[in-house]
Amino acid sequence: MKIIDAHQHFWDPSRGDYSWMPQDSKILNRKYDLEDLTKDSKSIELYKTVLVQAAATNAETEYMLNIAESSDLISGVVGWINFEDPNQLEQLKNFTKNPKFVGVRPMIQDIPDKNWVLNKDFDIIFKTIIDLDLCFDALGFPIHLENFYIIASKYTSLRFIIDHLMKPKICNNNQEEFIQWKKGMYKLSKLENVYCKFSGMVTEASEKWTDQDLKPYVDEILNIFTDKKIMWGSDWPVCNLRTNYLGWYNTATNLTEKLSLAEKENIFYNNAKSFYKLKI
Ligand SMILES: [Zn+2]
Repeated sequence: MKIIDAHQHFWDPSRGDYSWMPQDSKILNRKYDLEDLTKDSKSIELYKTVLVQAAATNAETEYMLNIAESSDLISGVVGWINFEDPNQLEQLKNFTKNPKFVGVRPMIQDIPDKNWVLNKDFDIIFKTIIDLDLCFDALGFPIHLENFYIIASKYTSLRFIIDHLMKPKICNNNQEEFIQWKKGMYKLSKLENVYCKFSGMVTEASEKWTDQDLKPYVDEILNIFTDKKIMWGSDWPVCNLRTNYLGWYNTATNLTEKLSLAEKENIFYNNAKSFYKLKI
């Protein structure tokens, strides 16, 4: 089965703008490039990827677009603009000159104000994203579920994708938290423009995680978003904190083994292609 990885990163810590990166992490704090990805994914049929921003700067988006220009494997780039600066609308338009630029992702998980996304001044930005036919990657935690619902239901033609199932704290194994997450995800799943990335789960699980720890969450999204609105992503190299590229891929295929081939093709290929409008 041909695969599109809807969410991977490259970075080079010497660029100096990855403020979230723990200096002492041997796994994260090193360069990851195309050669590493090719090596780590060599036993699966990885056809294309979407490269996602990992720094809150325009420079990092340019860095990613440069890599994408010289690589057939990278079919889309999700970049970053400063929503708080109205001058960045021009920057956003400039990025779209590169056909591989497909969307933006503010780093909402790192912003202390949980209501940041509701800022009324962002109206023009959301409208411009829609006008430019771009996507919005929603990176947050379960505390952001309600706000994401407000935005996604206000801008019904905004192609809106939830990153990493909203990063539920799988390691907490807390039933009440699970029910809250499930309720918020259910509401979002009912909006036609909202999709869900099947990614980033292992880093929310405990160090001794098993497939069974992830299963209730995966079953839930399969049930509510269905194979029509879910897309697989590796979140490599972040996934290396708990497993490796192949380990997460194998877990993802185990947890979707009951699906038909057509349903699997939607999750591992078709949905990423159509959602991001990848030119492949
Ligand atoms: Zn990521």
